[in-house]
Amino acid sequence: MAKNYYDILGINKTASADEIKRAYRKLASEHHPDRGGHSEKFKEINEAYQVLSDTGKRSQYDQYGQTFEQAQRQGGFSGNPFGGFGFEGFNASSGSFGFEDILSSMFGGEETQARNRGIDLEMPLRISFKEAIFGVEKEIAIEKKNPCAKCNGSGAEPGSKINTCPKCHGQGQIKSQRRTIFGTVATSTNCDRCEGTGKTPEKPCSECRGVGLKRGRKTIKVSIPAGIDNGQRIRVRGEGEQGYRGSAVGDLYIQIEVQPSKEFLRKGFDLYKEAKITFSEAALGTTLETETIDGSVKIKIPAGTQSGKVFRVSDLGVPHLNHSGRGDMYVTVIVHTPEKLTKRQKELFKQLEEE
Ligand SMILES: [Zn+2]
Ligand SMILES: [Zn+2]
Repeated sequence: MAKNYYDILGINKTASADEIKRAYRKLASEHHPDRGGHSEKFKEINEAYQVLSDTGKRSQYDQYGQTFEQAQRQGGFSGNPFGGFGFEGFNASSGSFGFEDILSSMFGGEETQARNRGIDLEMPLRISFKEAIFGVEKEIAIEKKNPCAKCNGSGAEPGSKINTCPKCHGQGQIKSQRRTIFGTVATSTNCDRCEGTGKTPEKPCSECRGVGLKRGRKTIKVSIPAGIDNGQRIRVRGEGEQGYRGSAVGDLYIQIEVQPSKEFLRKGFDLYKEAKITFSEAALGTTLETETIDGSVKIKIPAGTQSGKVFRVSDLGVPHLNHSGRGDMYVTVIVHTPEKLTKRQKELFKQLEEE
């Protein structure tokens, strides 16, 4: 199926970027499926524009012609008429002339569902270094829109009937025609009478005035998993705000802030710390007792250890988040050189040096 992108757009090979754009707009408007155009044709126009509007792709196409076209097709187009690069390119290059309008009319159903849903909430939560390592259960209070207790979120006075919305006949949507650069486009908007729910209470709830929501404080328990790190987010499903009149509830995102430790530095699941030993301990070797996050451990320091040497203590790092195993702990030994020596110490060091 040999196709010439220039022919599709009805332009010649020397067309300028402006001419390409103009030809494309005209054709896309004429052949838009919402205006009764053929979706295959529309796809073809988009594909041609996609390639010819990109200087790099255009010169490749000019050079390799159909081979390039086939390669593009195989990689770029699937069952979805707006899938692959065709859609992305179209979107990116056409934001200024009403593509959003068309998008919302085509995917109207999905869009509205998302709009009806209660909003997601986000809150920071500061936890200690050890809480992040071992996990913790926290009680948090959130100020948000909850379902009204009196009407259970329905918006109807208890005992009263809930009717089908007379304005949208229960659809929740009002279809209207709008003029865009592509011509007249059908769009759906949420029904203002029922706010997209398709139902109207016969007698609105006296507590929430029919909204089904009541602002208030809610305390919830959140379990913070072991191994969580600074800056990570936890999603608590269904703890965002309640949507209008009992529609879907949003989620709560907890942004974790971990207080730093004075003793340990955390990098991923490993912990780092420093431990001081004396000059003679370094020279003669010793057993160093040092704190870990689980209690103290003994590390064997061999004779002749240099300052800055790192010892690894396996499995005493941070537990892996959501699976088994732990990181390691690394101890950097710092040899403390005495600053003031007694007369006797000086003599001993001198003797040592002469040895
Ligand atoms: Zn109520
Ligand atoms: Zn309605």
